Amino acid sequence: MERAWTKDPSKLNKFELYKLEKDGLDILNDLKRFAEQGYEVVTEDDLSLLKWAGVYAQKPKSDGYFMMRVKVPGGIMNSDQARALAGVARDYGRDVIDVTTRQAIQFHWLTVQSLPDIYERLDKVGLTPIEACGDCPRAIIGNPLSGIDPNELLDASPIVEEVHTFFHMNRDFSNLPRKYKISISGNMYNTGHAEINDLAFTPAVKEIDGEEVKGFHVMVGGGLSAKPHLAKKLDIFVRPEEVLKVAIGVTTIFRDHGYREKRHHARLKFLVADWGPEKFREELLKLTGPLPTQGKDMTLGWSASYFYGVHKQKQPGLNYVGLSVPVGRLYTEEMEELARLADKYGNGSIRTCNSQNLILANIPDEKVNELLEEQLLKRLTPFPKPFMAYAVSCTGNEYCNLALVETKERMRSVAEYLDQHVALDTPIRLHMIGCPNSCGQQQIADIGMQGSLTKVNGEMVEAYDLAVGGILGPDAQFNTKLKGRVPADKLPNAIAHLVKFYKESRQEGESFHSF
Ligand code: SF4
Repeated sequence: MERAWTKDPSKLNKFELYKLEKDGLDILNDLKRFAEQGYEVVTEDDLSLLKWAGVYAQKPKSDGYFMMRVKVPGGIMNSDQARALAGVARDYGRDVIDVTTRQAIQFHWLTVQSLPDIYERLDKVGLTPIEACGDCPRAIIGNPLSGIDPNELLDASPIVEEVHTFFHMNRDFSNLPRKYKISISGNMYNTGHAEINDLAFTPAVKEIDGEEVKGFHVMVGGGLSAKPHLAKKLDIFVRPEEVLKVAIGVTTIFRDHGYREKRHHARLKFLVADWGPEKFREELLKLTGPLPTQGKDMTLGWSASYFYGVHKQKQPGLNYVGLSVPVGRLYTEEMEELARLADKYGNGSIRTCNSQNLILANIPDEKVNELLEEQLLKRLTPFPKPFMAYAVSCTGNEYCNLALVETKERMRSVAEYLDQHVALDTPIRLHMIGCPNSCGQQQIADIGMQGSLTKVNGEMVEAYDLAVGGILGPDAQFNTKLKGRVPADKLPNAIAHLVKFYKESRQEGESFHSF
């Protein structure tokens, strides 16, 4: 099919030319053949398209294992889905289950033979890994508390579902210039991390015809990786029923005008930076028709998607309980137990957070104390130690082919060291990543740690670049890189010194990002 970008093939990189021959979704037709004939028949080209199926080759590629990401739109799932996820981890994934910074679930150790059965099992419970990766609309993130949240302007979960359903396996949008991330949240504390998404809908109100209407503002062009950009706000107000139309419009602009010459210069953020929000708005309105100008922004701050402890829902008599999942990793039996607790104490509802944590929802007042006594909540505790509580980590070189260093265990050991040696009355968010791709979102951390290598006594060793002062919400800014590079064995001590320096030098009420 001829598209706007196919007219001048000289403007297309090699992978773009390949995507014209074979759409990413076409790889789904090959899964059965791969399973029957084995990893040996999977080519490098196949591997590059398998991302559309939600799988990446695990490190080292020669071993033939895969990582799979499963979408959890808006972070809302139920106990049957949790049990299905646990079953996949048990039967195929060596019991490892990661919660990602996009509210998704990630498996490791999958073989190509296991894939058809996994898709079938997930499909039966309404979950999918398809388009969780690849140059397409990926998992839509949102407010994990949708529908139960005293701090939401409106419940955006039906809109998340509507937009997810529209884009899922939609061949009009399965070949975008690069990955594409959408956030839709009605929460007033920016649970959708709006500023680092390609397209974000944030809560807003506007007086229209004498009536106050609840809806959304729109931000475009955010993203991290080596060149992070904060999304820019467009001067429009969107009613809930118009979100899909606007999402289609923005995605159409990205598809037809996004850059396809260089992979590292293809995200929507580069187009937005070149056009500016005014031109982007003009082009969008050509597709959507007229939209009102901005109303009143209802984002009041940033919770960073942390919900520890027991909290009242907007429904009287019901509570949600925010649980800590240290560095986002849990195991089969824990997921199964979580499903049991969700059924026994609540209505089966489980939520995943961008902070790599979990929430049990709809717990009646009279059941809260008994739930808190459950064994599972000793490790996945609602009352975690201060540094472990706010420690985020990407996958790292345990499984990721792009990683320069180990991350999950190192992040855990840094947080444990701080919990043993530093007392602090305010949370410090620590994020660790294994390479500049920034899956662990280091640029928005109070203290970001980016893996690298450095020479010590003539030998290359794992090391970390540090950056301080990142935050999202109304005061959004990325953190600032510090000079120097810290060898891995000195990292816990170096971070402890940094935190102590803040503790001793801060003025009353001064937060880490403004320090
Ligand atoms: Fe892999 Fe880099 Fe992403 Fe970490 S940030 S999971 S090392 S690609």
